[in-house]
Amino acid sequence: IGYMIEPIQKLTHMSTQFQEGITGFQRFMEIMNLKPDIENKPNAMFLDKLSGEIEFRNVCFRYEEHLNDVLQNMSIHIYPGEYIALVGPSGAGKTTFCSLIPRFYDVTDGEILLDGMNVRDIDLQTLRKNIGIVQQDVYLFSGSILENIRYGNPSASDNEVIEAAKHANAHEFIMSMPNGYHSEIGQRGVKLSGGQKQRLSIARVLLKNPQIVIFDEATSALDNESESIVKESLEALSKGRTTIVIAHRLSTIRNAQRIIVLTKKGIVEQGTHDELLIKGGVYARLYSKQFELV
Ligand code: ADP
Ligand code: MG
Repeated sequence: IGYMIEPIQKLTHMSTQFQEGITGFQRFMEIMNLKPDIENKPNAMFLDKLSGEIEFRNVCFRYEEHLNDVLQNMSIHIYPGEYIALVGPSGAGKTTFCSLIPRFYDVTDGEILLDGMNVRDIDLQTLRKNIGIVQQDVYLFSGSILENIRYGNPSASDNEVIEAAKHANAHEFIMSMPNGYHSEIGQRGVKLSGGQKQRLSIARVLLKNPQIVIFDEATSALDNESESIVKESLEALSKGRTTIVIAHRLSTIRNAQRIIVLTKKGIVEQGTHDELLIKGGVYARLYSKQFELV
């Protein structure tokens, strides 16, 4: 049950919930939208680093209590270090697609391979250690900014935390606070904007140093300034890693090496921005509408 160590470490920072013991843990699993029935195989593989190769082979997925498949017979091969933008209308299954990679859910049919290994055969802690996720809602606990970033790698030194914050464009705003890195986050602590929270989250993932990064871009637009700063931070984060961005902003999409267009019918198109515009299909139509459907 090694994979439980990470959530438990989280819980120790939230002392009140930790004291609730198993109830607190279950609540935590609900909050994190994790299925407790995802289990480690007894002979699961422990690995240090993955290369970041991801393959979906005829993947079908349906949420347990639902009748319809969200993903149907989906196959896609993503190469180590690739930068992918995943675009498509709301409800197409983009977030679901990404949540299958760290095994927040198991596929209903087919298989997902990382470096040629079925994710079910990989030790869960190994798997999740190799995947960094930046979501719309950034999970922060009450504690200092330093502690919140260090959560990405509990053994990191203060200097490593600061280095990560610099790469994530967070250092400056942190230093502008009266207590700098020791500023407390939480009810009586400092208030952070959406863009600042995302930069802390990026710093955290930089410290974690995974080979695969998933970025679920916020639909609720950040203001223009924080948007471009977050974009820069994301570029720093994606260097040398397989990156999947669920992208809403044209600037992020344009930068992608490959754009995958996902609709309820599955993957309908893939290619670069220019290739897909010339093709004149779904992507071109989304583009001409300024992605208002995305
Ligand atoms: P997208 O990220 O492209 O907007 P999602 O992956 O969030 O799409 O959702 C795909 C479909 O799965 C939608 O119909 C949505 O209602 C459904 N769905 C998403 N999450 C859950 C869940 N936890 N339980 C049941 N259905 C869900
Ligand atoms: Mg989504």
